[in-house]
Parts: sequence; C-alpha cells; structure tokens
Amino acid sequence: MRMPIWLEKRASLTPDAVAVESEQNRRITFAELRQRSRSMAAELLNMGVQPEETVACLCDSSLELIALVHSIPYTGAMLMPLNTRLTAPELLYQLQDSQSRVLIYSDSFAHIAAELKQANSMLQILSIHELSNTAAVVDTRLLHDVAADAVYTIMYTSGTTGAPKGVLQSYSNHWSSAIGSMLNLGLTEQDKWLVTVPLFHISGLSILLRSVIYGIPIVLQPKFAPEQANAAIMEQGVTIMSVVSNMLARMLEAMGEARYPQSFRCMLLGGGPAPLALLQACVERGIPVMQTYGMTETCSQFATLSPQYMLSKLGSAGKPLFQSELRIVSSGVELPTGQAGEIVVRGPNVTSGYFNRDAKDSFIDGWLHTGDIGYVDQEGFLYVLDRRKDLIISGGENVYPAEIEAVLAGHPAVLEAGVAAIADQAWGQRPVAFVVLRAGEAFAEGELLDYCRARLAKYKLPAEIYAVAELPRNAAGKLLRRELLALLPQ
Ligand code: ATP
Ligand code: MG
Repeated sequence: MRMPIWLEKRASLTPDAVAVESEQNRRITFAELRQRSRSMAAELLNMGVQPEETVACLCDSSLELIALVHSIPYTGAMLMPLNTRLTAPELLYQLQDSQSRVLIYSDSFAHIAAELKQANSMLQILSIHELSNTAAVVDTRLLHDVAADAVYTIMYTSGTTGAPKGVLQSYSNHWSSAIGSMLNLGLTEQDKWLVTVPLFHISGLSILLRSVIYGIPIVLQPKFAPEQANAAIMEQGVTIMSVVSNMLARMLEAMGEARYPQSFRCMLLGGGPAPLALLQACVERGIPVMQTYGMTETCSQFATLSPQYMLSKLGSAGKPLFQSELRIVSSGVELPTGQAGEIVVRGPNVTSGYFNRDAKDSFIDGWLHTGDIGYVDQEGFLYVLDRRKDLIISGGENVYPAEIEAVLAGHPAVLEAGVAAIADQAWGQRPVAFVVLRAGEAFAEGELLDYCRARLAKYKLPAEIYAVAELPRNAAGKLLRRELLALLPQ
C-alpha cells in the first residue's frame, strides 16, 4: 500500500493554517513548511542521498529540524535523529550502528560534527543552516508518495537499561500511532500542542507528525523552562502538552496558586512511572492529566487513560489504544487478571524490529516483549509497575523501586526520589533511596523512614536514604537507576 506524503497532502488541504509557532511568535504555515521541506529534500538529493539510506541529524529543536523531518519522505531515505546530549563515542556508536553516511548538524554542534567526521572519514557532514538556505525548487526527482511499510525513522531507545537500540519506525507505525492517539484524546478545531520535549525522542517527534496529519499548530519551545511552558498554556492558547513527571512537578511548583484555563484539555504524562502524590496534586488543581504508557518501539503512546477515569483509576496507564492489544505473561503463559507479569504488546503502531539487530527474544509469536512489569485490573485497566531489570528481590519478595520512589516523593520535603538495589547478605538485595529535597528543606532520614514505614510493607523499606543534589537522568529526563549507586558516599 502507498500513502501520499503527509505534508504534501496537508499543505494542499489547509495551506494557510499555522503549522508552527516558535520563539517571538514567529509563525509558519503548512504551505511555507512544505516549501522549506521540499527545498531541503532537493538539497539532500544533491548531496547524493539515496532511497533507503540513513540520514543522521544532530540538531537542536528548531523550525529547521521540523522541516528536515518532513523533507525525508520526499527523498525515500530514513532519518536517524541523534540525542544531542550524547558524548562523541556514543554518537559514533549510533552513526556506525545505523550505517549513516550523511550527518546534518545544528551550528551549536559544528565542533562535535567535525570531530565525528575526523573519526569516520566516510561521513559527509552539512550544517542544517546551509541545508535550509537553498532556494525553493520545483524538482522532478522528489517523490510523491511512500510505501506504508517503508521505514521513515530509525530511532534509538533512551538507553535507560543498556545500550540504545535502533527501532525501525515505518510510515504505517507512525500513522497508526497518530490515529490511535486521536481516537482516544479527540481532536478540536482549537487544538495546539506544546512541544518542549526533545524531538529526537518519540514523544517529541510524534507531535510533529500528528500536527501535519491532524492539521493543528504546534508551539515549539526548544528548551524546557517551567515558567515559559506555563505561560504558553495561560496566554498562547495551548490545549495539549506532553510531559514527563519531573517536568510536570516543576511546572506545578512554578505556577503557585494559578490555574490553567478551561481550554487546556490534556497534560499527556508518560515516559516513566508517575508518583501518585503528583497525580493527586494535579487533581486538586484541576489539571487534566492523562497518564500514558508507551515506548520507542510502539511509536509513542500504547495505552492512555481517558480523562473520565482520571480519578477512579488514578495511577493507571489506561487501556490500549484502539488498534492495539496487550497481554500479561510469565514464562510464556498468559496470566489471569490482577496478576503481575511482563507486558507484551501488538498492534499496527508496534515496530517490526531493530536495525541491524536480531530481535527474536523481543518478538514471540508476533508479540513484542516490553521488559516492563504490570497487571490489568478487572475492568481492563493497565497498571505499569516497573522495568523487569530494575526489580529488586529482597528475601524472596518482589520490590518495585517505582513504588518506593512514589511514596518518598509524596513527602512534603522531597522533590524527587530514586531507588536502586544494594547487595545484602541476609536478604539478597535491599533497596536504597536517594532523595532531592525541596528548596529550604532539611534532611531528616529518620522522619523519612517513619513516613515510609507508615506506607510500605517492612520488606520494601529502604535500608538507607541519602540526600543528593540531583538524580542522574538521561536527555529524556528519565531516571537512570543503574547510575544511582555511584552516588553512595565513598
Ligand atoms: P532502553 O530501551 O534503551 O532501556 P527506554 O526503555 O527508557 O530505554 P524508551 O523507549 O524511551 O526507552 O522508554 C520506554 C519505557 O519507558 C517503557 O518501556 C517503560 O519502561 C517506561 N515507561 C513509559 N511509560 C511509562 C509509564 N506510564 N509507567 C511506567 N513506565 C513507563
Ligand atoms: Mg526500552
């Protein structure tokens, strides 16, 4: 099956509608975006880019990067967005792993791009600035449509549990994800999506694609700042925003007693477990949080909690989107309702596999094994407990770090918490906790332990609690539990 190029279609349907609002209220329409993307595509072809080859980019969030994302379908190539916070060796690994020959970079990364070229002389590098400065062209080489099952993006996972894997994301995966999201969240004429999450992860990239498929504007804030994000909701007509929990916690702190306008209809919260205390604080302020569970492999949301269940199913990630299904399994057997096991998923938004990597352990009988543990309640709502790799087994009991983190984050003095396992002679493993205190709060380990004791079974109690200045997080804002133990006092 073939599909029209989405931006081409959108620009022919609503050419004058606003596509992007960026800094200082700079706006561009879908017709203007199409023109930029087409000329970028022509320039990529001039560089010798071939269909099905990988084009890497190392770019800040910008209008230029948005145009680049949409230029790719015109060339038939695949885009591999690099995480801009990676070090040179990590970048080299992904460039090599994805067999990229061309690298497009933002000016702020010119230095590192040159370093990468030095390490890999085959690499052709070009600044996105130069790529954007070419004149508009009518180029007969540009494609008009794409194969639905062709790969659009190769996106590396966050690397939270190990080396990042290059997920193959096809047009049809992205399309199904956008439509599934809309069938659940709905779509209104006023919708405007605020993008402050990185565009090199699926949470950000998927918003760019939804914008073109739905015909709605995005507000682009290249760097997350809580006050600025709140202002976009209060004053710029934003109706939807995607966040991870520590972004949301910072926005709540920054907004004081203020309330968002009624028109703000969805705070899409994903990327990791959401502390219950944070969800409750949002309920109190009337913020319509929708918890979502998804991953690079499912091209963004897999399950999302509809707003009408926000209170009655607090803490749930909802039900799978329309075309998607899940099962909870253990040792190859499907578990009954209520029992915790590995979440396995399938659906048209689920990737077919990883680039250049055998995935036979991840896909069994067409089901992707997510490595996450969860359960489904009587009414079919999914509760995600934690990652299988982070599970702590203490005295034979399963301890989920996320549960302890959520309890600690509920204490008024604690801004955020991270929990990891230490080896213990008697119990095998025991949890230890690291907390970042709110400004002006003093650390009282005994009090925090009492607080935990009142809320957690004895075997879940942290053996120690340490106050730290910050928690190790990756560029997606995710807690890197495997780096927590490095914070232990020497
Ligand atoms: P890697 O696969 O390289 O270790 P990663 O899994 O963090 O990195 P992503 O694809 O960005 O890479 O993240 C998806 C993961 O995030 C999920 O598999 C899950 O562990 C976690 N996650 C996402 N949403 C939720 C949620 N609502 N509750 C708990 N965990 C979540
Ligand atoms: Mg993963």
